Amino acid sequence: MDCLFCKIINGEVPSTKVFENDMVYAFRDISPQAPEHVVIVPKEHIKSANEINAGNVKYISAIWEAVPQIAKQLGVDADGYRVVNNCGKNGGQTVDHLHFHLMGGREFGWPAG
Ligand code: 5GP
Ligand code: ZN
Repeated sequence: MDCLFCKIINGEVPSTKVFENDMVYAFRDISPQAPEHVVIVPKEHIKSANEINAGNVKYISAIWEAVPQIAKQLGVDADGYRVVNNCGKNGGQTVDHLHFHLMGGREFGWPAG
């Protein structure tokens, strides 16, 4: 399958690994929007949030179980961080493999704009 994040997971495309277990892979974003910016992906190809279902939601659980561990590892747990999922065109999704951005080391505004 011609999917960039599947290639990153299987090592075909190099990445800077931050965290890995049997269900989750996390790596540094190539174009960071914060001092700490990690992309967290399920090891199964799920196209977007629209494709989450009863059969694969265990990957979302695994990702969120990893979030506090990654935040602690990055040293952003105490000050806080933002976790973002972009879905589809209006959400700003550019890679069609479900992922969450974990960003920290600076303050983020709200509303998102
Ligand atoms: P999206 O816009 O789909 O929510 O996020 C995709 C993210 O993947 C972007 O933040 C982009 O910088 C990152 N990205 C795109 N290509 C690569 C790559 O080859 N390596 C890494 N590490 N990140 C990438
Ligand atoms: Zn994929």
